Amino acid sequence: MPTREFSPASILRVALPSPLRRLFDYLPTRQAPACGWQPGLRVHVPFGHREVVGVVVELSEHSELPRHKLRAVSKALDDAPLPADWLWLCRFTARYYQHSLGDTLHNALPARLRQGHPMAGRTHTLWRRHPEAPEAPDFGRAKRQAELWALLGQHPHGLATRAITAHGLTHDVLNRLLHKQLIERREVEIAAEPTGGSLLATPALPLNREQAEALAALHEKLTHFHPCLLEGVTGSGKTEVYLQLIEAVVAKGQQALVLVPEIGLTPQTLARFRQRFNAPVLALHSGLTDAERLDVWEAAASGRARVIIGTRSAVFIPLARPGAIIVDEEHDGSYKQQDGLRYHARDLAIARAHYHGIPVVLGSATPSLESLHQALNGHYRHLRLTQRASRHPPAKLELLDLRHRRRQGGLLPDALTAVKATLEAGKQVLVFINRRGFAPTLACHACGWMAECGQCDARMTLHRAPPLLACHHCDSRRALPDACPECHSGDLRALGSGTERSEETLQTLFPDTRIHRIDRDSTRRKDSFEQALKEIQRGGPCLLVGTQMLAKGHHLPHVTLVVVVNADGGLYAADFRALEHNAQLLEQVAGRAGRAADPGRVLVQTLHPDDPQLGQLAEHGYAALARDLLEERRIARLPPFGFMALLRVESPRVDAATALAQSAASALREWLTQTATPAQCLGPVPAPMERRQNRYHLHLMLSADKRSRLHAAASFLAQWLEASPDARRVRWSLDIDPQTL
Ligand code: ADP
Ligand code: ZN
Ligand code: ZN
Repeated sequence: MPTREFSPASILRVALPSPLRRLFDYLPTRQAPACGWQPGLRVHVPFGHREVVGVVVELSEHSELPRHKLRAVSKALDDAPLPADWLWLCRFTARYYQHSLGDTLHNALPARLRQGHPMAGRTHTLWRRHPEAPEAPDFGRAKRQAELWALLGQHPHGLATRAITAHGLTHDVLNRLLHKQLIERREVEIAAEPTGGSLLATPALPLNREQAEALAALHEKLTHFHPCLLEGVTGSGKTEVYLQLIEAVVAKGQQALVLVPEIGLTPQTLARFRQRFNAPVLALHSGLTDAERLDVWEAAASGRARVIIGTRSAVFIPLARPGAIIVDEEHDGSYKQQDGLRYHARDLAIARAHYHGIPVVLGSATPSLESLHQALNGHYRHLRLTQRASRHPPAKLELLDLRHRRRQGGLLPDALTAVKATLEAGKQVLVFINRRGFAPTLACHACGWMAECGQCDARMTLHRAPPLLACHHCDSRRALPDACPECHSGDLRALGSGTERSEETLQTLFPDTRIHRIDRDSTRRKDSFEQALKEIQRGGPCLLVGTQMLAKGHHLPHVTLVVVVNADGGLYAADFRALEHNAQLLEQVAGRAGRAADPGRVLVQTLHPDDPQLGQLAEHGYAALARDLLEERRIARLPPFGFMALLRVESPRVDAATALAQSAASALREWLTQTATPAQCLGPVPAPMERRQNRYHLHLMLSADKRSRLHAAASFLAQWLEASPDARRVRWSLDIDPQTL
C-alpha cells in the first residue's frame, strides 16, 4: 500500500469496537507514525470516557462534524499498518454479513492486538555487539550485562530478542547496553525460504489413479483462483491429496492455510501434517493462550509459518505469501459462527482465494448442497475419489424397523445379535446415539407429567452421574424430584435412551467387554478423549457408545459394525436443511465402519423404514440423495437456488419482541414495494423454540432469487433497525445465509 502524504487537514476515519455500522472521525496527532498515516494503523482513541483501540480505515479531507468538535487520536500503536490482505477480508466480511466493521476487525484480531499490545510485524529484531565497541568493556558488578555481552559474543551475526529473553535476560538489560552504545539492533526480514535440507520429512505416498488425477488438476492452476470440490468417500485419501498440494505450494516458498472442523483438529491430525514436512506447521485453535495466538498470527503474517491449520476463525489469519487454502469436511456446521459476527468460514475462504488468486479445495465425503451445486454447474472444478485406500467399498446402510419392537439400551434384538457376533470375532462396535445423558426426559407414569425446563420450551434431560435434570438448551439444572410435582405419584420413569443409559444396559448385557462412552460429559477432562482414542486404536474387542464426537473424522480402524440407534433426527423437521444435515451425519457415522482391512456393516434403526429419502440414502448413498435434495430445493427456490437472510429478534418480553419484529417487517415491505425490489419477506413468526432461557424469539425471513437483491434488502433492514429507538430495548441480529432456523 502506498504511503500517503500526511496533510494537516486530514481526518482519520476510525473503526471502533462498537455494534454501530459506521466509522468515527478523529484528528491525527501532531507526530505521524513512521509510515505516515494510512489505512490499517491501530490507534488509541478517546471514546466517551474511555480509551479504546481502533483501526484507521480511511483518510478523508472532510468530516460531517465541524473541526472543533473532533477529538484527536491519542497515539498510533504501530509504525506499520496491519496486513493488507487481512484488512481486505475484514472489510469484505463486514459488508457481506451486514456487520459493523469495527466489531468485525475486533473479532478478527488476536486478543493481544485488540488490547493494544505491540505487533512484531514482518521483520524481527536482531541484537549484536556494536562493531566499534571495545573488546572487553568493564561491567563492574552488573552481572546480567556481562552475561548478555558474552552471549552476543557467541553470535556475531546477531541474536533475536526472543532467544535472548529465553536466556532469562530482560529488555532492561538490552536497553542498558544499547544506551552505552555497546550493542546495536537491526530489523531483518523474516526469511521466506525453508530452513534448508529437503522439504519432506517423510516421503509422500504413491497416489492411486483418482488421487493422481485430482492432484494433477490442482497442479494445473496453482497461480489462479481455482475453486475445487474434492468429493471423496471417507477413507479415499483426500488428506493425502491435500498434503501433496501443500508440498507444491511450500516448495514455491508460499504458505498453505488448512481449515478443519472444530472436532477435527486433534493431535493426530496435526501430527500427520507435521510428520510430513520439514517446515513450520502451526495450529490455531481455541485451546491456545493469547500469547500463543499472537505468535501464530505473527508467524503467518511474516511468512515464517508455512502451513497453518486451524478451526473456523483461522480463516482470518493474515498470510504474507498465500499459496492455497484447503477446507476439510467443508459441509461441517462448525464453520458457521452462530452468534455475534455470523460468518461462514468456508464462504470466506472462497472469497479470500479469489482475492489472492489461488486454488481453494473444499473436501468432503458429504458435500454441502451449496458446494455440490457449484460443482455440478461448473463454477467449481469437480474432483472425485470413489475408491477407498482399504479397497472395501463403504458399507450400505441396513434399515431396521423400530416400530412396536422391544429394545434394550436402545438396541433392537437383531442389532444386539450383530454386536455379539462382532465382539466375539474380536472386532469393535460403534453405537451412535445423538443424545447425551441417561434419558431424554423423566416422566410420571401415573399422570403423564414430563420434566420441562422452566426457562425454555424444552424437556429436561435426565442424567445419572451425577443424578440431576439438565436443560441442554440453557444449561439450567434441577435436583431429581422424589415424586411427581403434579400428582405426587412416586412412579417416575426415564423415557427413552441417552448415551449413559445405553452404556449401562450394554454393560449388563456384555459384562466382560470394555465400553468407552464418548460424549461431552465423559470427555470433559482435557485429554480423556485422546486417551480413549489411543486405546481404541490399539485394537481388541470393545464397544464405543458415543455422540457426534465419534461420528466425524476419526480413524477407527478396528470398528467393523456401526449401529445407529435412531436415524430419524432430520426427517419431518421444520428446518429445510435438517434432511441434508441428517444424511451427512448418517453417512459420516457409516464411514467409520470398515476403514481398514475388514469390511463393515452399518445398522440403522428407524421409525420410518419406508421413507423414500432414507431408502435412497441406504440404497445409493449420500451422493445420490444429495442430487434428489438439490432438485427439491430448485423447485422450491430454496438455497442454493435462492438466497436468504434471517432477522432474529429476542426479548424477555414477548410483546416488545413482537412489536419490533412487526414494525421491522412493515418497514421492509414498504421499502420493497417502493424500490420495486423483487425480494420476499416472510413473518414474523415464532422461532422453532420460541422461549429459550426465558427470552422470546421471533424470526423474520428475507429471501430473493439474486444475491444482490437480498443484500440490498438486508442492508435496508440493518439500517432501519439501527435507527429505530425501539430496537435498542430488544436484542436483534441479522444472519446472512443462515444455516439453522
Ligand atoms: P480421507 O481424508 O479421504 O478420509 P485419508 O487421507 O485419511 O482419507 O486416507 C485414509 C487411509 O488411507 C489413511 O490411512 C491413508 O494413509 C491411506 N492412504 C491414502 N492414500 C493412500 C495411497 N495412495 N496409498 C496407500 N494408502 C493411502
Ligand atoms: Zn404425575
Ligand atoms: Zn432451558
